[in-house]
Order: sequence, then structure tokens, then C-alpha cells
Amino acid sequence: MMKPDQPPFPAIDDDLDAEEQRTAEILKELAQLSNPTCFRCSQSLCFHEYVLSVVTGFKTTPHCTACLASGLGRSPADFLRDAYNYIRRQTCYRSGWHWASQQENQPIEQPACIWPATPSQPQTRMATPAIDTLADPNDTWDAGDMACGELVLKLRLRLKSLQPGQVLLLIAQDPGAPADIPAWCTLTGHSLLSAEPPEYRIQRKNG
Ligand SMILES: [Zn+2]
Ligand SMILES: [Zn+2]
Repeated sequence: MMKPDQPPFPAIDDDLDAEEQRTAEILKELAQLSNPTCFRCSQSLCFHEYVLSVVTGFKTTPHCTACLASGLGRSPADFLRDAYNYIRRQTCYRSGWHWASQQENQPIEQPACIWPATPSQPQTRMATPAIDTLADPNDTWDAGDMACGELVLKLRLRLKSLQPGQVLLLIAQDPGAPADIPAWCTLTGHSLLSAEPPEYRIQRKNG
């Protein structure tokens, strides 16, 4: 993989607002990657796949597109479509994606390095158990003002520690959370039972 001599990310300083600071951090992480490989299958990863890993909560254990999709029980085409819709709405992720396309000389929409040639049929999701949405949560996590890749990484691990069908009460103060949390739940298949910022009740999916 080509590495740039001068990665085009802004210096992190106090003048940046929170959103710009997060973007700069993601771009910095991307620029520092040297020949990253999939945590599961050891295939080498492109920058887009690293962004996809950050977005889904696998920042510290990045996966290739195929492994991310199969881990979520989705086809790669469905996963990529939903993931890209999510990424393009979030400044922090979108900047990383654009940077990845620039580095790899790929288009921003449907880069050929990861996009499958033929779209797949829509899939049906496994139903999650019925639950009283007002029942006491099984776990509560106050994420403070954590955001973007850091928030979804910790959120994913927190949900993983629950049993399927159990409910996490998440408290997230980040101004991006009201858009970010529902989109992340859609992408990963967990059920958002209620969203009353800063409180979100998330039910762990099956499997
Ligand atoms: Zn893999
Ligand atoms: Zn790529």
C-alpha cells in the first residue's frame, strides 16, 4: 500500500472545535497505519476498511469488509450500503473516508477496492425477543462526551458483555449522539428501544 510522505491531516490544537478535532484524530490514525491486516483473516486492509472498522466499533481490532459483514450477519453489499450512508452523514467518519479515497485514487462513492461488482438482494434480519421497553435495563453505561470511533468501540464491547435480548441504558452527551446512535444500531443490528437524549435504551441483538 502506498504511504503518503506528508499526510494531509490538520495539527490537533485547542482552536479546533470538537468535530474537527475528532476528524483530525481519525485521519492521524489512518496516516500512521503501516500495512494493517484483518484481525480475523489476516488479509491486508485498505484505508476504507479501516474507516469501516472504526465506524462499527472495531477501531482496535480492524477487520476486512467480508469479515465485518459476516460478523454482523449481512452480505457485503448490504453492509457497505448501510455503512456508507452512515459515514457520509458524520463529519468525523466522512473526512476519513474522503482521505482514504484520495490516498488510493478511488472514487468516494463505491470505491472499487471494497465494493462488490453486483448488488445483492435485501436480507431479512433475525427477530430479537419481544421485550417490555420500559423494563429496568440490565446494564447502564455513562459515556460522558465520548464520540465517534471511541464511543462505538466501547458501546460494542459493552453490548457484547450482555446476553442476547438484554438491554443497555446508554447515557451519551455528545451533540452528534442523537444522529449517531440510531444509525449505528441500524448498521449493527442492535435494537434501539428508546432515544431520549442523553438516554438511549439499546437491546442486544441475537448472536
Ligand atoms: Zn478478514
Ligand atoms: Zn480502499
